[in-house]
Amino acid sequence: MLKKWRLVSAVALCSVATASAQNLTALTGATVLDGKGGAIENGVVIISDHHISCVGSTTECKVPSGATQFNLSKHFITPGLVDSHVHFAQTGWIDGRPDGIEAPDVYPYDETVAQLRANPDRWHKSYLCSGITAVYDVGGADWTITDSHATDTDRPDRVHVRAAGPLITYASARNRFFQLGEASQAMFLPMDNDKEVRANVAHLKKIGAAAVKVWFLKPTAEREKELDNRLMLVGELARKAGLPLIVHSTGLREAKVALRAGAKMLVHSVEDKLVDQEFIDLLLKNDAVYAPTLVVGSNWTRAMAAVAIGKPIEVDDPNGCVDNAIMDRIIHPELLTPALGGRISATRAMELLEDAGRTPSVMYANLRTVFAAGAHVVTATDAGNPLTLHGPSIYSEMEAMQAAGLTPIQIITAATLKGAEAMGIASKTGSLEVGKLADLIVMTKDPRKDIANFRSLSHVMRKGILKTQSDLKVR
Ligand SMILES: [Zn+2]
Repeated sequence: MLKKWRLVSAVALCSVATASAQNLTALTGATVLDGKGGAIENGVVIISDHHISCVGSTTECKVPSGATQFNLSKHFITPGLVDSHVHFAQTGWIDGRPDGIEAPDVYPYDETVAQLRANPDRWHKSYLCSGITAVYDVGGADWTITDSHATDTDRPDRVHVRAAGPLITYASARNRFFQLGEASQAMFLPMDNDKEVRANVAHLKKIGAAAVKVWFLKPTAEREKELDNRLMLVGELARKAGLPLIVHSTGLREAKVALRAGAKMLVHSVEDKLVDQEFIDLLLKNDAVYAPTLVVGSNWTRAMAAVAIGKPIEVDDPNGCVDNAIMDRIIHPELLTPALGGRISATRAMELLEDAGRTPSVMYANLRTVFAAGAHVVTATDAGNPLTLHGPSIYSEMEAMQAAGLTPIQIITAATLKGAEAMGIASKTGSLEVGKLADLIVMTKDPRKDIANFRSLSHVMRKGILKTQSDLKVR
């Protein structure tokens, strides 16, 4: 049955690729979860010229004659997933961050960047292979905005991309790691005085950034007032430039300052304290997006432990989507062990692994509180960081949201429509509605029963082109 299906699918792909506007595809028999909380049993989705022209019951959507029909009974359809926090400029291993483990002899940073720029499609492939059809790149060098992987995405072999570009930060901006060569470009822009902040926001506007992102770590007591005020200035400048302000602030105090500065999106969770009413009020007043990243921290810890003990760690890539070049690096953590210089003992590494398995209860509680208050919550992985792999990391992130207490239907909306809204692309994708692009995925198991069933991905349709998951595998 499956074999036959693949054959039909291949034929359909050819015909769609050369088709004109009247080309029609019909998906029938599946349970259709629309991304807005709705479910249609034995649903029908009609696709015409890359767009959804009907979605509903068999009586609401008659299959037009001449349509290529795919019977998907016992399957489940949702919109394509949206990862609201990725970094094209990071690999998914410790080589991709010069501030992680410095090992230029093993992985020269400029070379890593050159490889990333030469083949950004590896991430597009990995996303589609995992069921992701849109990503928000919330930090990277200028090239993450200006290269074609981010500007030429209106095609079925790429996902939608919005990119914020270099981060404005007081931390490390003048550090030697960020005095990078021509190939690498700066990932961080300083905020040590008002003049440079003005110049940096103007630069972001000029290169076409989708947002102004500030990496706002907890300042020392002496610099608190100065940096709080400067964040307020960045907020004002972003507003004038017509760009949303995105802030990395994992402390409750810093997150409140960010919201007062006008932040429209908080990347990461508040993780030092339980959020209070003042925070909720600020979040709702701004209608700001709360984008928790629940698994990236433990992935970092696992990666560091793997390097410390010099043994590879299990990679969570159920559908074979991760690029071989990256896998080669991940399975050889011992290459980085000398560079770690014994900073983590074997005993400590084992403790770290245990820590990585613990429930992040403050982050979970804050997600529940923020969600219950009616805030705009999205699914976000921070993909590109060590072991938070472009593509498959979306599964463990959604599973963590479920462990925190959200229901599968709530998570599906956060991981589709809400993400598209956060990216500003909800008018064209993010839910299964007439007029939107046919960006959708198919599963063999019901994701309403367990969000982990997103792992049972069988097909991915981007811009109306249906592919089997096995067609998209890279390994
Ligand atoms: Zn990030």
